[in-house]
Amino acid sequence: MTGAVVVPIFQTSTFAQEAVGKHKGYEYARTGNPTRTALETCLAALEGGRWGLAFASGMAATDAIAHLLSKGDHVVMTDDVYGGTYRLFTKVFGRLGIGLTAVDMRKPEAARRAMRPRTKLVWIETPSNPMMKVQDIAALSEIAHKGKALAIVDNTFASPYLQNPLKLGADVVLHSTTKYLGGHSDTVGGAVVVSDPQLHEQVRFVQLSVGAVPGPLDCFLVHRGLRTLHLRMAAHAENARAVAEFLKQQPGVSDVRWPGFAGMVCFRHEDATAIASRTKVFSLAESLGGVESLLEVPQAMTHQSVEDSDAAVPADLVRLSCGIEDPADLVADLAQAMGLPVPA
Ligand SMILES: *Cc1c(COP(=O)(O)O)cnc(C)c1O
Repeated sequence: MTGAVVVPIFQTSTFAQEAVGKHKGYEYARTGNPTRTALETCLAALEGGRWGLAFASGMAATDAIAHLLSKGDHVVMTDDVYGGTYRLFTKVFGRLGIGLTAVDMRKPEAARRAMRPRTKLVWIETPSNPMMKVQDIAALSEIAHKGKALAIVDNTFASPYLQNPLKLGADVVLHSTTKYLGGHSDTVGGAVVVSDPQLHEQVRFVQLSVGAVPGPLDCFLVHRGLRTLHLRMAAHAENARAVAEFLKQQPGVSDVRWPGFAGMVCFRHEDATAIASRTKVFSLAESLGGVESLLEVPQAMTHQSVEDSDAAVPADLVRLSCGIEDPADLVADLAQAMGLPVPA
């Protein structure tokens, strides 16, 4: 319309029609908004899918997928799943008659054994949060399809820069765009990407019926974040490598986990909570995937909803989201927080 090189923030709730039913593709902003369309098109392209659907949060996107199920259906889920996902399926959809079995999906055989006649979804999250369990998307998708179930991958930790689940056989990719895709800790959002037309119709129907859609400013912010995704992911990984290598050599630190890509690292230390309160560069906060480094103690902060369940995490676990700062600053910060000499 104007030559603007960036799709503007269309802050409008409705769109004027020329005649009854005659319009430019937009009627009401819950159903669609040009700022959202631009983001959704970009998300689909990044994941190699046909359709992207943006949601108000990662959990709203998860809820939209859960709404594809009916009473009596069953879900097979990775045991180390995002706490909110586990909570939604057990506490909300469980009450509505949806069954769930959580298994360690690093062994595809465990998922195969958990399949039941009414299993409709195989929920994969890889690398998982917070234990960084890496799972075989192709093998698990095959198991899902043999059981006439959909394979869904929460791709929040790897991002489409590192992993495209649809190309590995999955049916649905899900993101919390709050994390790496937005990348700047300034907005909350979610997304679903699919390639099957019927599945698209179903998710789209839930999106507009339930209405958990992001506003135009949030769409704009996520879309702006996407433009630097490749640069940020490379920097996150470089910093995570430096931090993981440092941690592996320190006394009192055990079980350092970094899957070899992306920016998430976790480790165990008996002084987990004290360390978490002493860092200065790493902010003590929930969430992840932003340009600034964050740390948290999952058991006490993000994973309380899974305490004493199949998805429980150790109390002495520290989770790091490595930002894009100078890696030497991150290592020095962890060293001082653990009372260790700062490496030269
Ligand atoms: C944060 C997160 C979610 C939930 O997303 P919100 O945007 O917080 O609703 C889902 N899955 C993973 C892996 C996450 O890290």
